[in-house]
Amino acid sequence: MSARCPLHIVIVGSGPSGFYAAEALLRSGCDVRVDMIERLPNPYGLVRSGVAPDHPKLKQSISVYHGIAQDEYFSFFGNVAAGRDVSIAELQGRYHAVLLACGAHEDRPLTIPGIGLPGSHSATEFVGWYNGHPDFCDHAFDLSCETAVIIGQGNVAADVCRILAKPIDELRTSDIAEHALDALTASKIKEIFVIGRRGPAHAKFTAKELRELGSIAGATAHASAEECILNEESRIELEDRANFNAAKNVVLFDTFAEQVEGHGRKIRFRFCLSPVALLGLDRVEGVSFLRNRLEGPSFSQIARATDQIETIPCGLVLRSIGYRSVPIDGVPFDDTRGLVPNRAGRVTDGGKPVGGLYVTGWLKRGPTGIIGTNRADSIETVGNMLADAMELETKPGADALRSLLAKRGIRWVSYAEWLKIDAAEIERGRKKGKPREKFTRVDEMLAVLPSRA
Ligand code: NAP
Repeated sequence: MSARCPLHIVIVGSGPSGFYAAEALLRSGCDVRVDMIERLPNPYGLVRSGVAPDHPKLKQSISVYHGIAQDEYFSFFGNVAAGRDVSIAELQGRYHAVLLACGAHEDRPLTIPGIGLPGSHSATEFVGWYNGHPDFCDHAFDLSCETAVIIGQGNVAADVCRILAKPIDELRTSDIAEHALDALTASKIKEIFVIGRRGPAHAKFTAKELRELGSIAGATAHASAEECILNEESRIELEDRANFNAAKNVVLFDTFAEQVEGHGRKIRFRFCLSPVALLGLDRVEGVSFLRNRLEGPSFSQIARATDQIETIPCGLVLRSIGYRSVPIDGVPFDDTRGLVPNRAGRVTDGGKPVGGLYVTGWLKRGPTGIIGTNRADSIETVGNMLADAMELETKPGADALRSLLAKRGIRWVSYAEWLKIDAAEIERGRKKGKPREKFTRVDEMLAVLPSRA
């Protein structure tokens, strides 16, 4: 592209994959202008509203994103939702390429009887609630019961379990939302079951997060010794070097199986159980599980239900069985896989690439990997985008987006304005000894800013 005709790219979504895509574009050596639109006034997606408040190190990537946002050819348009304030087609008309980086913000459904009972929630809701996400700030979690059941054994389940199990004083100095701190302070939960549908060799926790669950002050982690006995197929799986994380997990579960019952909160790992119904009339009173046996060869063992039923009485159920992306108006969607169909980041429709439309992050590959996984993913998409971006007609980019938003009366938030909101949150937190006290409502964030003429 010549200086007279820079390449105008709009990124939809401001989480890690969006920022890493912006970085790849701005470092590409091409003459690019990168605009990022985001539904909320604040940037950073799941790094702000997904990463657990007691894991501040994982939020350090924000300083990298902040550096990217300082580039003179980067502009942020917060409080602008694609599909609500501006359509994908309108963006396509104004930009050479639209790069979708909207992540996966719904939970995978679990369709069993009783799932809608009060006391049954998705981990997505719980995580959004304790992290002060505006979509979840009005949710309520009744923590007055003594037993909680978490369904799923991935890192989100580990986060949720830790937040329920940790001594409240360890959370007070984190950026956890005030409403969650209040509710957790009054929590009566003593016992937390964390349930996997397959065996200990198949839990998806990273060993670091699992080890942490075994070293929470005032809590003990237990596993059922009987359920920790591995079948031959699982033992073969663990011999594979690629499975070193699972091997570490199994050692940890074995240690948990030897723990003597102590005082304080108990975390109980259970295996080979699939939920079949939540029980209770007006609210959750228990979960009914079918015991599974593992079937199939090593590396592709599946859980097959037997006719053995087990019921765990509880007052809170959090399902943590993975996330799912949400379809975007005007964009192809693979409903079975819960993502936008693509070939290495080029969006496809019926197998054919859709010109000028790209995807990255969880919306591209599904909800897997850690924050850093998104960097390589976005570099791949941007590489393909730039390879396609030859001999394109001139597009107006940000100027045309600003005019459209002004015409619609949309109060978009620039990056400089976000920094004012950021400073206000830090100041609110300082008074309480917290790194920040997040605003949990969009209106509160906008109230920090002067109205724009
Ligand atoms: P996940 O790692 O995919 O774990 C999902 C869990 O749900 C698995 O145990 C899975 O069992 C189970 N499951 C799925 N469908 C089920 C069903 N119908 N019934 C019962 N159980 C079911 O998902 P996640 O925990 O949401 O994490 C998403 C990604 O974010 C992961 O890559 C994770 O590592 C990452 N993350 C990382 C951190 C961190 O680095 N600290 C923190 C949070 C999240 P099967 O294996 O049998 O399918």
